[in-house]
Amino acid sequence: MTLLKPSYALRYRWISGLLLGALLILASPTPVASQTLISTRTQIDVQFPASITFSLNASSNSPITRVVLRYKMDRLSCFEEIVDRHVDFSPSTELQVSWVINMRKIGGLPSGARIHYQWLIEDEAGNRHETPKETLMFEDSRYQWRTLKQGMVTLYWYEGDDAFASRLMSASQASLDRLGRETGASLDRPTALYIYENTTALRQARVFPQAWEGGVAFPDYGLVAIGIAPQDVVWGEEAVAHELAHLLVYQMSFNCYQDLPTWLNEGLAEYAEGEPSSDERSRLERAIASNRLISVKSLSSSFSADPQQALLSYNESRSLVAFLIQEYNQDLLLEAVDWIRKGHTYDEALLRVYGFDTDGLEAAWRQSIGAPPPFTTSPSATPAPTASIGGLSSASADLVALLGVGMLFAAGVAHAVRSHSGN
Ligand SMILES: [Zn+2]
Repeated sequence: MTLLKPSYALRYRWISGLLLGALLILASPTPVASQTLISTRTQIDVQFPASITFSLNASSNSPITRVVLRYKMDRLSCFEEIVDRHVDFSPSTELQVSWVINMRKIGGLPSGARIHYQWLIEDEAGNRHETPKETLMFEDSRYQWRTLKQGMVTLYWYEGDDAFASRLMSASQASLDRLGRETGASLDRPTALYIYENTTALRQARVFPQAWEGGVAFPDYGLVAIGIAPQDVVWGEEAVAHELAHLLVYQMSFNCYQDLPTWLNEGLAEYAEGEPSSDERSRLERAIASNRLISVKSLSSSFSADPQQALLSYNESRSLVAFLIQEYNQDLLLEAVDWIRKGHTYDEALLRVYGFDTDGLEAAWRQSIGAPPPFTTSPSATPAPTASIGGLSSASADLVALLGVGMLFAAGVAHAVRSHSGN
């Protein structure tokens, strides 16, 4: 098992990056609309990862009485999440105001997040003015990112050579191809992978980093950030394959009702990585031989926090997905996902598509892998604790520890533990 690497001293690049990190964009003055007398000039100051400051200079013949910053994060969401921020100021014909989005208050945003915004201004005479809608990219400008794009995926990296980046890109594409071939799903939104040079650099790019954090996925934004040292490229290939698969699964199963069962979500991501390793195979075989498989019902919710149980949960999940893909028509899996997406229970979805519920799936799968039939009373693995994560206010942030053992979070609740072995 790979352990988290010890943190080492901040690099000079990081310190100088902080000093130079302020990205100042001065927008050209918006022309005065013929029907109003209000003129404006806007400015953005990005301090990654801490804050974004929106500033406005406005003037009018009549005192300006109302200023609103309207913005919206560019992400998959069930609702139109428009935020209006009313700015306090004393009415004046000339004013300079600003609004700060403090990332510590919203749980942070990853590099590559896009925000649409505009200012709404009103003066005492009743003139109204809206600045043009603009889009801001919240990017980690402390690094000189290089890019590699293929299809819907763009890889950003700054450490390591072209061969390193192209290996990670190939692994990403192979993962998408595999899931596409087996389930018919494909990415329909652009996706970006930000590859930091190691986990320390990754955590420095986060406002609330977890000590174990090796990667973070924001599937609603189509963004992933991972710390991968060039010498860890073999592990990195697995990590990007797994995370890309999660983004694809998120897009194909996006709904406002419920998450996929954990075994299906993690199983698809594991399946997309390719063939199981010999370690993974033997762990599953040992569990079969000792009749210690974790029940599928138990795998539908949070995986155990116990590392060994968690590893077995991932192995079983992969095996379950492989069983469904290989034994049945591949379109059926996507159909089952679709029923869940429409709000049906897991059992209903399975019954409609495969003719068995979760227990029926477990019985058929056990038979296919040569395991004894399940207990009649539903056994469960080590109780799966859930943990609310302070500070993780981005409801759909999906954090994955990609080095060592860590947790996968969704909606602020731990729901899985994942570990990687070997490098
Ligand atoms: Zn995962």
